[in-house]
Amino acid sequence: MKTIAKMKEGKQRKMVPFISLIALRRRIEKLEEMTSPTHSCTFCGTADDTLVISAEGSVSCSGCRASKGDYECNEWLRWLKVNDTVQWDRVVDHHRLGSNPFSNLVRKIRIEP
Ligand SMILES: [Zn+2]
Repeated sequence: MKTIAKMKEGKQRKMVPFISLIALRRRIEKLEEMTSPTHSCTFCGTADDTLVISAEGSVSCSGCRASKGDYECNEWLRWLKVNDTVQWDRVVDHHRLGSNPFSNLVRKIRIEP
């Protein structure tokens, strides 16, 4: 009886790290999936290895991060429209057919005089 109890205890001890490894692997896979080039910048659609996920869940490329900084989206877009037409065109093109609030904002600012 004592041996069986010990065997069970041993089995349980082995199971804990095994389950943790599976959970860890899933987390790593999720992170890899989120940062892989198949995902793209929320703002301009760039898919490169500079993508970073913000706390709010948006993905940004180094170019957008550098120019956006702490600007609100509407301030940043108006700045971009005037000061960085290459990036602005990328953003406009990426949100041409989008239906989320950011896409709507891009189209609204695009037609502003
Ligand atoms: Zn970008």
